[in-house]
Amino acid sequence: MILGESVTEIRQPTPRRGTNLPRMGDFNLTVILDAIRRSSGGLSRVELAQIVGLSPQTISNISRRLLDQHLIVEAGKEGSGPGKPRTILRLNPSGMYALGVHLDPAVITTVVLDLVGDVVKHSRIPTPAGSNPQRVIAAIAEEIKALIEDSGVDTGKIAGLGVAAPGPIDLDEGTVVDPPLMTGWDRVHLRDALAEATGLETLVDKDVTSAAVAETWAGGASGTGSFIFMYMGTGIGCGIVLNDEVVRGTSGNAGEIGHIIVDPDGPACDCGLRGCVKSSCIPQVLVAEAEEQGVLNGGRKGTEGPEVQEALPGFAMPRMQVTNGPSRS
Ligand SMILES: [Zn+2]
Repeated sequence: MILGESVTEIRQPTPRRGTNLPRMGDFNLTVILDAIRRSSGGLSRVELAQIVGLSPQTISNISRRLLDQHLIVEAGKEGSGPGKPRTILRLNPSGMYALGVHLDPAVITTVVLDLVGDVVKHSRIPTPAGSNPQRVIAAIAEEIKALIEDSGVDTGKIAGLGVAAPGPIDLDEGTVVDPPLMTGWDRVHLRDALAEATGLETLVDKDVTSAAVAETWAGGASGTGSFIFMYMGTGIGCGIVLNDEVVRGTSGNAGEIGHIIVDPDGPACDCGLRGCVKSSCIPQVLVAEAEEQGVLNGGRKGTEGPEVQEALPGFAMPRMQVTNGPSRS
């Protein structure tokens, strides 16, 4: 559950450039598809040539390939002044689909997305209790199968499955490495287990990093170059994007901010120190503080993450978005 996020614009992105060297067709195809998906209203072939630095002939050939694969569509013509009106190329939403899963200690969210990132179908189920990762993995796989069926999407058009898991993770191994609040999840091979159970090509990334990736595709900060995505839910963490590139760090765990000390006299943290971001700012602590000060009535059932989250509708925290702040580089 995202309570609040703060996004600060730092610089404009630099578009990726293609290469006119032979044998680079697939790379250029990716570059062109990327440029089209980053544009809000689509691009003409002439604009594409200017943005990615490829010859008109290469643009024309690759556009043809993308049209043949139904990944893009020709969407009307544009142009006033003299000369031929330009045909606009846009992503074809139904050209390809993907599955996404967010594994949280309390809730499993599953989505089917189309090529422009719109949600076609989604579901939320409680994460099976106890400390048995195999049970949770089986529940996820079952939910994926049900959701694909429900969505009516052609399975041949599903590019793969992306899983957002609580950190820390081992990016190379696709394992979840003993995250807080998930007992029994020490070095669980989540990626391989789900790939096997679903038959889908599977990627596992840290939840906050996945959220930052999503922002670069479809969120409010899309295209703004550099930003930090803050996640406050059962835990707390951030995803980092610098100059349009997601920063994962050497171990895939950049953004673990929970134990930065923000208040040396603050509440004791489970790491043994006082006043960490985690012990001062997670929803459980904020809710307890709000109850103490009479801002929120203390009618919740318990102190665990899900119970606290249930208490939150009465504690509306505004979604903050700062996009006109001072430019920094
Ligand atoms: Zn700490």
